[in-house]
Amino acid sequence: MPAQISTIDHELSFVLADKPVLQLIGDRLIAGATTIPVIDPGTGAQIATAPVADASQLDNAVAAARRALPGWGALSADERGRVIGRIADVIDEHREDLARLTTLEQGKPLSEARDDVQWSIDFARYFAEYRLEREVVRDTPDSLVEIQRRPVGVIGAICPWNFPLFQAVYKLAPALAAGNTMVLKPSPTTPLATMYFAELLQNVVPAGVLNVIGDDGSVGQLLTAHPGVDKISFTGSTVTGRKVMSGCGPSLKRLTLELGGNDAAVVLDDVDISEAAKGLFTWAFANGGQVCVSIKRIYAPESIYDLLCNEIARLANELTVGHGLADGTELGPVQNAAQYEKCVSYLELAAQHGTVIAGGTLLDRPGYYVAPTVVRDITEDSPLVSEETFGPIRSIMSYKTVDEAIERANNSPYGLGSSIWSSDLERAAALAPRLEAGTTWVNHHFALTPDVPFGGIKQSGLGVEFGRAGFEEFTEPHVVNIRRR
Ligand code: NDP
Repeated sequence: MPAQISTIDHELSFVLADKPVLQLIGDRLIAGATTIPVIDPGTGAQIATAPVADASQLDNAVAAARRALPGWGALSADERGRVIGRIADVIDEHREDLARLTTLEQGKPLSEARDDVQWSIDFARYFAEYRLEREVVRDTPDSLVEIQRRPVGVIGAICPWNFPLFQAVYKLAPALAAGNTMVLKPSPTTPLATMYFAELLQNVVPAGVLNVIGDDGSVGQLLTAHPGVDKISFTGSTVTGRKVMSGCGPSLKRLTLELGGNDAAVVLDDVDISEAAKGLFTWAFANGGQVCVSIKRIYAPESIYDLLCNEIARLANELTVGHGLADGTELGPVQNAAQYEKCVSYLELAAQHGTVIAGGTLLDRPGYYVAPTVVRDITEDSPLVSEETFGPIRSIMSYKTVDEAIERANNSPYGLGSSIWSSDLERAAALAPRLEAGTTWVNHHFALTPDVPFGGIKQSGLGVEFGRAGFEEFTEPHVVNIRRR
């Protein structure tokens, strides 16, 4: 378990064992070339020291992944599936420790961290069982043409800080199932759960198939540029996504980008206001609003605008904000100091450009706490509406016609998720194709499952994750074309 815990006023004996946090390179657990402090966002105190790889450790991790590639790729899908199933078992066996570590470093309430762990198990089990169906393009007396799939090679996975364990697992499970090996880098601010997970896998995954290295803000670029890496799977901001893309250019690396979003929810005038408010609120404020596919802009018709605003503000005011490990906490702190500073400026914009009907303040206590904030009557060109707001601050705007609402929802460089809220499913389904997004949910939002592809259009990404399409992104097509006569 991670160690070097300093001040922490919660019951955390499980992280107090006296051993360092280590990287997994090949089949060895290795200290970093340097270290970085890890902060509990719920107290602002340092809770651990995490390892940071240098260029030579990165080289070793990539070399280990390359060495493991032929043997791992030569296993049958069933044999690889058994290992991935065992990964799911390991997460299951250590679910509570992994959840508590996630809360401790990320800040989210323990109930949400337990969800992350459960999703990790579900996604790992799904890809353990997943088999690509044979794809025959032509089967005639003259010829047989088949598209076979081979692994891409060594995958560099770059994970952000909002769902550290879950994002690591949902990248590695399909990648490994397809026969690739991986060098995975957690975010510098949330390395603990991922590194503990890697430690648990030391004797579960064959040497070099999964390597987990630490970072202080310098390794992402090196990993992207590394000649021994064949593909980058990146989740993070659009700004960094562009840099990753150009870093992949010189070696023509394969690339999947899951980037930022500014998801709009379009509420129709036939909703049950109380029910809709609950759903909108849940998917706007889950994980403190630090979700790429969180509802960030709500468009409501004038006829129900006041009632809906009041109901969502009421829910925000009732939320219990606190340390993620404290009983009863429903909203934790913002994950890191930089994000907290962004929230401070969002709150200033909220007060200047709109009417704050819930929250609007920072909580006067150690840690990165922002009161859940709801803003109404805000101008559309405020950065609070036009930019991605990653924090517990959300805007509600009114509209006159549905056409206008759709147009305003689409008026964004982003195109990740979106949703329509209505009691009339046919009416909602007819509008769904008009929204410019990778996914449009009806009467829910942010429902990700391993069997359904997920990705963004416009500036929200490139390619997809999950489902057949997501699995295929961890493969290269190989056409076998046989002339029969
Ligand atoms: P970033 O997206 O900017 O960075 C994420 C990761 O990218 C880091 O681990 C970083 O690694 C790596 N990275 C940075 N530069 C490069 C590069 N040139 N090549 C390869 N990797 C690189 O996230 P931040 O944490 O800085 O958050 C900024 C904003 O991103 C947030 O405010 C939020 O809006 C958004 N975000 C979106 C998420 C999503 O799920 N889509 C998740 C988290 C944040 P290294 O430290 O080594 O540089």
